[in-house]
Amino acid sequence: MRTAEIRQRWLDFFSSRGHAVVPSASLISEDPSLLFTVAGMVPFIPYMVGERTPPWQRATSVQKCVRTLDIEEVGKTTRHGTFFQMNGNFSFGDYFKEGAIRFAWELITTPQDQGGYGFDPEVIWVTVYQDDDEALALWKSIAGLPDERIQRRGKKDNFWHTGAAGPAGPCSEIYIDRGPEFGADGGPIVDEERYLEIWNLVFMQYAIDDVRGKEDFRIVRELTQKNIDTGMGLERVAFLLQGVDNMYEIDEVFPVILAAQKISGRTYGENHDDDVRMRVVADHVRSALMLISDGIVPSNEGRGYVLRRLLRRTVRSMRLLGVEARTFPELFPVSRDAMQSSYPEVGTDFARISKVAYAEEEAFRRTLASGTTILDTAVAGVKAASPTAPTLSGEAAFTLHDTYGFPIDLTLEMAAEQGVAVDEKAFRTLMQEQRQRARADAMAKKTGVAGTDAYRKLQSELAAPVEFLGYTQTSAQV
Ligand code: ATP
Ligand code: MG
Ligand code: MG
Ligand code: MG
Repeated sequence: MRTAEIRQRWLDFFSSRGHAVVPSASLISEDPSLLFTVAGMVPFIPYMVGERTPPWQRATSVQKCVRTLDIEEVGKTTRHGTFFQMNGNFSFGDYFKEGAIRFAWELITTPQDQGGYGFDPEVIWVTVYQDDDEALALWKSIAGLPDERIQRRGKKDNFWHTGAAGPAGPCSEIYIDRGPEFGADGGPIVDEERYLEIWNLVFMQYAIDDVRGKEDFRIVRELTQKNIDTGMGLERVAFLLQGVDNMYEIDEVFPVILAAQKISGRTYGENHDDDVRMRVVADHVRSALMLISDGIVPSNEGRGYVLRRLLRRTVRSMRLLGVEARTFPELFPVSRDAMQSSYPEVGTDFARISKVAYAEEEAFRRTLASGTTILDTAVAGVKAASPTAPTLSGEAAFTLHDTYGFPIDLTLEMAAEQGVAVDEKAFRTLMQEQRQRARADAMAKKTGVAGTDAYRKLQSELAAPVEFLGYTQTSAQV
């Protein structure tokens, strides 16, 4: 089943059950403090927290999402994309736990020729929040699940809140057992690659306050209006239903792997590191396509920096696959062709999108060319000065970054190739000082725009700060 069809089935299923079909919101969330739309419920937060009155009691959507937090997982796990689509169904004071569990069970187990996804009930496992006996009993009565396929989990995994006082509640997650060849027995609490999480049901049941951490808060009362928020990973369901090994091999992503294979002359499936690189390329090209389509352009901060990083990681991955020539003019049209049946705008707006992407590739190629020369000279210098333990200074790494736009992870990697260490600690101190200067600057200019706490916390949960990703995590394998 093609991804576009799985998507349409979702919308048809819920719309024929009284849900208003709400189009995907932009990847740029309305709240300036939230970097990207990280989940299907983000556009619905104002209704969930009672800031706005929902125009419907039931809604459904397929939301475009970007999670920068997952960037280091891409290509290494089977299931994490920087861009992905989250199918959601929402109830605002209408149906609650029983309705949500009934809908979920019906959709995933109804045979494909009758409009469902046709999963064998025998491979379905669920988790519930440790104290949620009600959800556990519902999974038994509605789905007939045996005790051993219902696992209890604590606050860390199965209790949702925004990080601020307000609505909160237990979750129940649905997993598909891919079979013993993919890992150990024992359910999702033992192995999350064999037991693939496809769907998260959130039961917004309580009001909480005194929130001091993910697992540290106080339940104040039961909500009078209880809400349902669910999210199913479209790519994850697609990879299971398409009988492939991971989300990068589905119809919307794999054509770019094939293109990378053709350009590089290397074969997908022969070497683990190359496979990871090709999956990174396919994932990042798609994310970049969708981000540019939503109006983001490369820059040195915020959203633009995430986009820049995705594009540069793509260039680097292709270089590690042995390709130094420009590749975006071959990769992007392939991604467009794979995505435009669900998102026609990537086709109609492709001239603009591709221009932005290709210009960034050109700029980064120039950066690489000039930075490489500077780096090589510096490396030769420190090797001559201290042959036994050559170390590139933090200042040198900082200059490469600051003046030549040469990312630290690249400096680390290229220095290491020549047996030279880098004083990362000093580099980070310099970065920190620069950030403080920038912040002081920004404060001076600030006009007083502030987002709600809830959004900010949700962001810190799901989208790690850009600087952190950029400078403290290396991507040695990519
Ligand atoms: P995981 O534990 O696998 O990282 P999650 O618990 O972080 O997933 P949720 O926040 O519950 O994910 O999001 C709801 C659903 O969205 C998940 O059940 C999954 O199917 C899908 N999903 C989440 N993150 C990603 C991602 N990075 N790429 C693809 N699908 C994702
Ligand atoms: Mg996750
Ligand atoms: Mg999870
Ligand atoms: Mg989850």
